[in-house]
Amino acid sequence: MTDDLGLNAYQRLAGRTAQYPGRGAKPMSAYPALGLAGEAGEVCEQIKKAMRDDGGEITPERHKALKKELGDVLWYLAALAFELDLDLSDIAQANLDKLADRKARGVLQGSGDER
Ligand SMILES: [Mg+2]
Repeated sequence: MTDDLGLNAYQRLAGRTAQYPGRGAKPMSAYPALGLAGEAGEVCEQIKKAMRDDGGEITPERHKALKKELGDVLWYLAALAFELDLDLSDIAQANLDKLADRKARGVLQGSGDER
C-alpha cells in the first residue's frame, strides 16, 4: 500500500489511462462527469446491498468492492478536474479551507453551499 501518493501525483498517473471521447476538448466533454455520477451510484449500490443482504454490515467482500468503487470515483474525479484545469490538491485544500471557515463561524451544520 502506498501512503504517500499525493493527489496531484495520482491525478497525473490516472491521466495515463484516461481514454474517453473528447478528452481535453473545448467545450468540455461530459464523459468524466457522467462517469463520476455512475461510479458514485455503484458505491451507493454496494451500501444498499449491505443493508438488504447483510443487515448493514460491511463484510470483507463488500469492503473490497467498496474500495474498488471508491477508486473508480477518484479516477473520474481526477479526469473531471483535468477537464476543468484544476489540480486535485487545490480542490482538496479549498474544501478544507471552506470547512475550517464554517467551523470557525459555527455553521458546519445547516444547509446552503454559500453559508
Ligand atoms: Mg466501478
